Amino acid sequence: MNLIFLGPPGAGKGTQAKKILDLLKVPQISTGEIFRAAVKAGTELGKKAKTYMDKGDLVPDEVVVGIVAERLTEPDCKNGFLLDGFPRTIPQADALGKVLTKRGNKLDHVICLEVPDGELMKRLTGRRVCKKCGEEYHVMFKAPAKAGVCNKCGGEVYQRSDDNEESIGRRLTEYHKQTKPLIAYYGERGLVRAIDGLGAFDEVFDRIKAALR
Ligand code: AMP
Repeated sequence: MNLIFLGPPGAGKGTQAKKILDLLKVPQISTGEIFRAAVKAGTELGKKAKTYMDKGDLVPDEVVVGIVAERLTEPDCKNGFLLDGFPRTIPQADALGKVLTKRGNKLDHVICLEVPDGELMKRLTGRRVCKKCGEEYHVMFKAPAKAGVCNKCGGEVYQRSDDNEESIGRRLTEYHKQTKPLIAYYGERGLVRAIDGLGAFDEVFDRIKAALR
């Protein structure tokens, strides 16, 4: 199955995607995670991406498209993939369409997680993430049992450098300007499955599962 998870920052794309993977047995391709790994490793890509990410801007299309196109050629994508955080612009979606056509592939579903901006701001300013396993926490709603330590793996729980109010505001603006038009883009192709992203994690997960059936 070939899937896209679309939605604003903080909608729960990454965490829901991780759970869906157990069900579908396809790799999760998160461009945000690819960039964060590159930043951590101090590569040229990481240095370039960091200047955009910290401000809440999008990394240029040509950089992102090249990375995803290459990733999709890896053997684990043979039976499908889940794209999380890509595409984020119309040119990225066009480029993805071309790559898939060349492979004789097509998209099956575009899962659109819908969450209002006010709720996203609350979620993102309090968000904390485990550096090691990616488990997400929240200072008010889901704090780790021991401050700064992941309940699951004992890794360090930290705040992403782009989870500050200024950067979040900019990421939301970019979402509305550049990414939201993709809902109409994929809607015209009959691929959009709109999901209410509010509520408990398991409730949202059940809605996604039902949409994939
Ligand atoms: P995310 O983890 O999906 O919230 O992504 C974190 C940051 O990585 C974004 O704010 C962008 O700066 C960058 N990024 C991730 N995916 C893309 C993409 N498809 N296009 C452009 N920039 C991206």
